[in-house]
Order: sequence, then C-alpha cells, then structure tokens
Amino acid sequence: MPASKVLVVGSGAIGLRTSLELLRKKVSVILRSPRSPIDTSVCSQGAGGLWMPFHCDDPRTDRWAKETLDELYPIGKDDSKSLVELVPTLALHRNNHGPTTLDFTRNDYASGTGGASQLPAWSTDARLQFQHMTTEMLYWQNYINRLKIPPEQDILAAGYSYAWLFNPPIVDCPKMLETMLKEVESKGADVNVETGMEYESLEEIVDDAKSLGCDAVVNCTGLGARKLCNDQEMVGARGILLQYDRQDCVRTEDIAFREDGKDTNIMVEEGPWGSEEMPCYMITRGNTVVVGGSYLEGDTEQDIRDHERLRLLENARLMGIDTEKSSPVGEWTGFRPFRPTSRLEVDAKFSNEDMQIVHSYGYGGSGWTVYVGAAKEAARLLLES
Ligand SMILES: Cc1cc2nc3c(=O)[nH]c(=O)nc-3n(C[C@H](O)[C@H](O)[C@H](O)COP(=O)(O)OP(=O)(O)OC[C@H]3O[C@@H](n4cnc5c(N)ncnc54)[C@H](O)[C@@H]3O)c2cc1C
Repeated sequence: MPASKVLVVGSGAIGLRTSLELLRKKVSVILRSPRSPIDTSVCSQGAGGLWMPFHCDDPRTDRWAKETLDELYPIGKDDSKSLVELVPTLALHRNNHGPTTLDFTRNDYASGTGGASQLPAWSTDARLQFQHMTTEMLYWQNYINRLKIPPEQDILAAGYSYAWLFNPPIVDCPKMLETMLKEVESKGADVNVETGMEYESLEEIVDDAKSLGCDAVVNCTGLGARKLCNDQEMVGARGILLQYDRQDCVRTEDIAFREDGKDTNIMVEEGPWGSEEMPCYMITRGNTVVVGGSYLEGDTEQDIRDHERLRLLENARLMGIDTEKSSPVGEWTGFRPFRPTSRLEVDAKFSNEDMQIVHSYGYGGSGWTVYVGAAKEAARLLLES
C-alpha cells in the first residue's frame, strides 16, 4: 500500500527536500527534528553547497546528482546571486586525466564517456560546460573568462599542469534550508523542528509514528543514524572552514582581474597545496566565501586546532585572498555523514503491513549534490511499493 501519512525525521537538506517531495505528491507529512535547520550543529547549513559528487561512493550517486542538477541549474540561471548561483569552478591537477577538451570529439560527448579519459562521468553533462585543459590553456582563455584566480606562475611553480573548469550550481545552504522549511509549512505539514529531543532508537520513532497516525517513516538523521540504527558503517568525516564576507573579501594585488573579475571556486586535492585528507579549496556561497578544509574520517574534534587554523589561513592566501587586509568573519567544523554506500532503502526488518520505514542517510560530502534525487527516490520507494 502506498503511504498516506509520513513521519519525516531530520530537517537537514535531505529531510526537508524529502518532506517537500511527499507534500507535492499530496501525502501528509509530519516533520520532526531536535534543532532548527540553521543551527550550527546541522551539517547541511555549514556546507559549501557546491554541486559536485565528492566522497559519496554509492553507484546511484550520478543519477541522484543529475536529478538535483535538473532542479538547481534553472534556478541558478534565472535567479542568479539569490538561492542558487552558477559559479565558475576550477580544480587543479598535477597529472593529465586523458584527452583535453580540444582533443574530444563530438562522439565522446554524445556517448557520455568523455573519450578515453579518467574524467568523472558527470563531467559530460553539457550544462556544466566542463573543460579539461592545460594550465597554459586556462590562462590563455582567461583573457576572455576574466576569472579571479591566482597568477599562472604560482600555479605552474607548484606543479599544477592541468585544470578542470566547469560551471556548477552553488546553493546558498542556510537560505535554501529556510526556503524549504517555509514551503513545507505553507503546504500544511505538521512541523516541529525544534523539539529539543533526539530519538534514541528506531523502535521509539516507530512508536511515535503510530501515535501520530502515520503509516510510514523516512529516517533522514544524517550522522545521527550511526547511533540511532547502530550503523557501524557510518562515519563522520570532519571538515573545517573559515568564512569570509564576500563583499569585504580583498584579493591580493597579483590576482588576475581583481576588481572586475568573476568570483571563482578553486579546489585542490593534490600536493603541494592540498591532499585528499587536507584539501585546499575556496567556495563562493551567497554572501560568504568559505575556505577549507579537511576530510578526516573518524576525527571527532569540534574545534579548529591552532595549527589547522594557520593552514586554513595559508589556503586563503594561496587562493588569492589578501589575509593582511581581510579577516575571517567566522569558522565552522562539520562532520560529513559518510557511508561506503548511502543507505536509501526500505528497512525490511522494521517494515510491515501497517508501517513502512525508509532510510535516507549517508551522503558523505555530496548531500547538496544529491538531495533532490535522494528525495525523489525515497518518495518512489514509499509510493510505488
Ligand atoms: C565542511 C563540509 C563541507 C561540505 N560541502 C559540501 C558541498 O560543497 N556540497 C555538497 O553536496 N555537500 C557538502 N557537504 C556535505 C553535506 O553537508 C552533507 O552531505 C549533508 O548536509 C547531509 O544532509 P543530511 O540532511 O543527511 O544531514 P544533516 O544536515 O546532518 O541533518 C540531519 C538531521 O537529523 C537530525 N537528527 C540527527 N539525529 C537525530 C535523532 N537521533 N533524532 C532526531 N533527529 C535527529 C538533525 O538534528 C538534523 O535535523 C559538506 C559537509 C561538510 C562537513
């Protein structure tokens, strides 16, 4: 039987968008979470908001990410600098990942393979205008693109000979959470996202769902699911950020197109500037520029350590922020809810004729990249069974 009244637990990106998906399909929703979606403890509010699959290894990720891009891209195109913005994004690499854009044939794009390359499958989506090129090509093009990026000699001296340049959507995360919450409320859901109470077990959630007259539950508790479901595969991957005010963020003298250039996201996961565990990146998100970062699985420290803060400041300098003239306005530590495969499935053990349980958690560093696709799939599981 398709569900008719659903208790959604968790009001991060996944819980809110899942609630919306159900409401748009005329299903009654009760939404519960202990804290407001924009509380600093909620992973979704502090995230970079960049659309790019990152540390989410589920084979379904590309499909969910595409469905999310389908929704975000038109908003970014029409509503620029508001909820979603399309921001040029540069990833620097030491080595070649296959043929550069100039070598691609029309067939490579049509077949969706990206040619004989090791480029990610998502890079072939034409909306992203993805290019793979040498650093020389990047700077040659930059006379036209006018991106705010560090000088060519610095990038070449550090050994970055190749670049990916693409144009993904960036979600203004706190604003999007507030917008989704308002829409959920306006569609008549029973909402309490500041209960102050964390569920201790799945049994407790099911009991609550029954007493509220629900015939289904969607568990969108992110990293909270580790304890709630005793899910040992879940791990927090600690991320640290400095936040700068976008308007007051002064760029160094030598940066290309300092005044009239376009804000650009920059991502480096290879040495010497970055590594997989300590990526060096900058993301322009709404009125904020965030500088990261780290990807440290199992590190539970809440505060930014002194040596980490120094490294983040150095990252800001490398990305072209004048750290003498601009100071961070805030900092944040968050824990990406990583699982080797995301858990988006019906819980066969707890579901029965009267109550269906769907889990939707474990999207790692890609929650904002897949949140629409994940919401649609959870709704399909509940309504098409
Ligand atoms: C530094 C950093 C940068 C990131 N940058 C990006 C990025 O650029 N792009 C991207 O796509 N992703 C990014 N991410 C990842 C993204 O933030 C997460 O994948 C996403 O926020 C997960 O959303 P969620 O709704 O599953 O979890 P959360 O946002 O953590 O929400 C979980 C909800 O469940 C509630 N909850 C938890 N436990 C319980 C319980 N026991 N009972 C009741 N309620 C409970 C919480 O209060 C909350 O409401 C980043 C993450 C970090 C840390």
